[in-house]
Amino acid sequence: MRTDKSVAVGVEVAASGATVALIDCYGRVLHRLYAKTLWGRPISATLEPYLRSVEMMLAYSSAEGFHVRGLGFSVPGSLDHTLRRPLLVPTLPALNGFPLCDLLETRYGLPARLHVDVDAAVLGEYWFGAGKGFRRLLFLTVNAVVGAALVVDGRLEGAAQQYIGHVCHIPISGSGPRCSCGKRGCINTLVSIDAMQKMVQRALRRGEETSLLHRLNNHEYFSPQLLAEEAVRGDSVALQVYSEVGRWLGAATAKYISMFEPDVLILGGGVLGASELLLTLVRSALITYSSEQVCHMVEIVPARLGNDGALIGAVVPLLPGETAQRTRKAVPLADVAPQEHRDRHHYAPRLPHADAIESDELLTTPQVTHKGMLLP
Ligand SMILES: [Zn+2]
Repeated sequence: MRTDKSVAVGVEVAASGATVALIDCYGRVLHRLYAKTLWGRPISATLEPYLRSVEMMLAYSSAEGFHVRGLGFSVPGSLDHTLRRPLLVPTLPALNGFPLCDLLETRYGLPARLHVDVDAAVLGEYWFGAGKGFRRLLFLTVNAVVGAALVVDGRLEGAAQQYIGHVCHIPISGSGPRCSCGKRGCINTLVSIDAMQKMVQRALRRGEETSLLHRLNNHEYFSPQLLAEEAVRGDSVALQVYSEVGRWLGAATAKYISMFEPDVLILGGGVLGASELLLTLVRSALITYSSEQVCHMVEIVPARLGNDGALIGAVVPLLPGETAQRTRKAVPLADVAPQEHRDRHHYAPRLPHADAIESDELLTTPQVTHKGMLLP
């Protein structure tokens, strides 16, 4: 079989919607669709926009002569690995316990894989991004919460590592704010987006001058990007937030490095991706908290695949092993960088009868063959 026409469909489910992409053996996104999330709906209606986009993608790949090797989903939550279904997805509880892989395999006749988003992202970075060539790779992501994943010799380390998947609850400061888990000083309470927002609110209550206030009053939402822009302009409150986050993240990464002994630490996610400044602060904080030996032992780099890490990583197990192996050594990073979002096609179908579709029907109604042909 010619591997250059082999592709897989990656689906990254996030709170606001799902990105569906056709990904080739070199980790390149060839085509992308966006499916909106329908909030508070039953499982059938929740999945329907995603499945419609998957079907559009399969039809596209068939028309273009690609061979689809399977479907890879990533979800923001935890999984039941034995039953191959989401266990707890806080932002989309309709998915909890639903036999997603069984549904996909029955409906499309293709192998399906399911990953936690951070696990998928670390696989993407290992094969096609900043982790290429490293044996022990620790990936840390800071968004709404802090997540981590570890790859050793190309394999995800899961249950064997006590704290992997729960790094956000490793205490970093004994006197920090109380966390939802009941403890004080978890990294989540110190460096997540929510934590950064609270730092800004405290500065505002102290009456500090900041251009952030002007932007927030102009109906802009608080985001890492907004904070990064103001930090670059020299806003003292934005810089103060970055300094504090950098300090805590430095302390946390020193702890993670001593626990997991990675060769490379990759930092990703909205908070870390918004600004190079944070990376610099983390590197300098690490010098404070760690020995010189540790600092020389590990490289700290930003995620190379940007926001597409989980999307691309979700299909890694489906791509031909030989090709992926060869790709790791041969493909220049510039060639595997994700396409810009200008290619994004917004797709929000109207589904008047979506609620009428039962999950049993989803499970037993094959609509697309293994070659990606839409059936009537
Ligand atoms: Zn906690």
